Amino acid sequence: MASTRRPIIAGNWKMYKTTQEAAAFTKALWEKIQPHAGASLPEIVICPPYTALTTVKTSSADLKAPFITAAQNMESRDNGAYTGEVSPLMLLDLGIRWVVIGHSERRQYFNETDESVAQKTGAALKHGMTPIVCVGEALQDRENGLTDRVIEQQVRAVLTQITAAALPKIVIAYEPVWAIGTGKVCDATEANRVCALIRHFISEYGNAEQTRILYGGSVKPDNTHALMSQSDIDGGLVGGASLEADSFFGIIEQACLVKA
Ligand code: PEP
Repeated sequence: MASTRRPIIAGNWKMYKTTQEAAAFTKALWEKIQPHAGASLPEIVICPPYTALTTVKTSSADLKAPFITAAQNMESRDNGAYTGEVSPLMLLDLGIRWVVIGHSERRQYFNETDESVAQKTGAALKHGMTPIVCVGEALQDRENGLTDRVIEQQVRAVLTQITAAALPKIVIAYEPVWAIGTGKVCDATEANRVCALIRHFISEYGNAEQTRILYGGSVKPDNTHALMSQSDIDGGLVGGASLEADSFFGIIEQACLVKA
């Protein structure tokens, strides 16, 4: 039986785009999608830097485009003396209800740990937000045969901070670190194997059937079909190819062909 999970295509802009560029992108993407708006689209999530969150959100609303705006990170605490941080309450104040948590660049360059990722996930759910929680093994882990163990550790850490009832609300992105920004996409069958393994770990904790699990790592229009055709891949988290409306639309179009 085909999955009832609605696909998600999320674009992570990382530290790119001014407000002007963000508004232009949102308009250009909607111009491409609008003619297909009657079709069943995936949930389309745009993750700009903090400075362009309001631009993407208001531009989407003005265009009546059903884009979801998500932050790329947040602090777990509500407020306090944490210079430079942005809290869940602050995102909610902007009307932002989705947030990427534990991206490998946050883990690698900003010392995020399984524990902090789990806390942030718990905070997002506590505030009624949808977290897209990133997990993934480094090249060395894969070469040493440690992929499954690393993924299990990362997923189980998150599960300690959430209730079984929250499982349908959480989104997991499997992003092998060696595939991010490298052009080396993970083989679709192997990506599906790991996504199914993630679903298995979740299912030991509660019902995992509605949890959406995305693949991320060098997703492009020409590899989207193979990835999205897999049973346990419910969408993509896209970095580089989400920066241009043409390529992001190409990915959305391919995902529609498979999962519609
Ligand atoms: C990402 O930033 O999450 C990502 C997957 O990047 P890219 O698509 O460029 O590999």
